[in-house]
Amino acid sequence: METLQRLTRRQLDTLRAIRSQETPDRGASLKLIAASLRLTPPSALGHLTPLEQLGLVERYRGKSRLTGKGRSTLVEYQRHHRVVETLFGNLGLAPKDVCAAAREIDLAISHRTVEEVCRAQRHPTSCPHGAPIAPCRAPAGRTASAA
Ligand SMILES: [Zn+2]
Ligand SMILES: [Zn+2]
Repeated sequence: METLQRLTRRQLDTLRAIRSQETPDRGASLKLIAASLRLTPPSALGHLTPLEQLGLVERYRGKSRLTGKGRSTLVEYQRHHRVVETLFGNLGLAPKDVCAAAREIDLAISHRTVEEVCRAQRHPTSCPHGAPIAPCRAPAGRTASAA
């Protein structure tokens, strides 16, 4: 199973909270992470521990910071989210609604399906809000002969 598919929404939010709180030489404290999630420190720790077990977060001098895998998982998430937002936008959902709609499926969808959706939309370069979508890795020509 792909890493994103194993994460809960709260765990993803925890990863993002660490990214926004950490500095290059110092991680984020549990107190800060909990505050940005609006949770108590013990509840935040409950989301943090599985992230450590998955190798996405590591302890450093008593604080938490993202590993390389944690960082690349967030990049992948962003791509899933924006490609799905674009899909929903093309299906007629209003820009104000596509973000919440995308969050309903962006963790569950596989990388492969995201690439197929990206290709079907002719590789959009930005989401409906104008945020950039990184170039995709979809191999050329796989869909042409299928179907
Ligand atoms: Zn969004
Ligand atoms: Zn693409």
